[in-house]
Amino acid sequence: MTTNRDYYEILGVPRTASADEIKSAFRKLARQYHPDVSKEPDAEEKFKEINEAYGVLSDADKRARYDRFGRAGLGDMGGSPDYSVHFEDIFEELFGFGSGRSARRNTPKRGRDLQISIQLKFEEAVFGVEKEITFERDETCSICRGKGAEPGSNISTCGTCGGRGEVRQVRQTFIVQMVETVPCPNCQGRGQMIEKLCHTCAGRGLERKKVTKKVTVPAGVDNGMQIRLPGEGQPGTNGGPNGNLFLVVDVLPHEYFKRKGEDVLLDLDINIAQATLGAEIEVPTVDGKEKLTIPSGTQPGRVFTLRARGVPRLRMTGRGDQKIIVNVDIPTRLSPEQRELFEKLALTLGTTPKPQEKGFFDKLNEIFGG
Ligand SMILES: [Zn+2]
Ligand SMILES: [Zn+2]
Repeated sequence: MTTNRDYYEILGVPRTASADEIKSAFRKLARQYHPDVSKEPDAEEKFKEINEAYGVLSDADKRARYDRFGRAGLGDMGGSPDYSVHFEDIFEELFGFGSGRSARRNTPKRGRDLQISIQLKFEEAVFGVEKEITFERDETCSICRGKGAEPGSNISTCGTCGGRGEVRQVRQTFIVQMVETVPCPNCQGRGQMIEKLCHTCAGRGLERKKVTKKVTVPAGVDNGMQIRLPGEGQPGTNGGPNGNLFLVVDVLPHEYFKRKGEDVLLDLDINIAQATLGAEIEVPTVDGKEKLTIPSGTQPGRVFTLRARGVPRLRMTGRGDQKIIVNVDIPTRLSPEQRELFEKLALTLGTTPKPQEKGFFDKLNEIFGG
């Protein structure tokens, strides 16, 4: 690409500008017009122009030729300046991270976290449980002790990267070339050349192992919660710490209990006589059977509360409640005797319907807040 404008004019500096002044003018403009960050419509063109100008004026030799002979004095040197050199200087300023100056390969690095799911029965989630879990993770290879070399084979420093494990590489991005650091292709980032790779781990230094652990699930966990087992994840590299293992709680549905936070919910059918006359009945709770008094005249949708029969508060004291939501079961099949009794009852109840003051769902909303 070429531009016809004067290079000094492009960078907005006088012909007498010092190298530092040119550099700082370039940085300012590059920040403003870099196409990956700039909102200006002609940013790409401007950025090319700025780069071309800086490529010439930042080079003492090219600048001298340009000063004496203008663009013609540059010949082939002027047309496509090597941006990568200048660009790396300002990359961090532009994007807040380095382009190629990554941490060296052999610095300590924390291992990856692992995540597996743990299935619990309803009661196990309520009261907590000790469980054995089995999962797979990498562990240091027991044959080569993590070195990746077959025992007794020769290990030497990699000649390509000089043991650093990484090499610099020029990469073409949107319009600029960038120098970045990549794992050394000769030694795959190891920094060492291994005469014979370990037959167990093929040089990785790690082997896949099945691990069994005893886990204490605290009382009160619920679906989707995560239990963290520190240091039980993937191993760190170069002496870095291990990652963590996260167990994602998956609670199996119960035959009749449901859960809402710390409360246990139970839908209970009573018959029309129990609702009308009242009754003493037994209801299941997570602690076993419990007596419940149904007063006479109990309406469908009425909620009874058994205090502290719910879920223990996670890592705290106290428990939620059990809520029993009553449904009155209307018989669909009657024996001849029952039919006769209902017909007699019907005569005494009259026939005028009465509008309801409050609907069933309004009541539920009042209790559970929607
Ligand atoms: Zn090995
Ligand atoms: Zn290497």
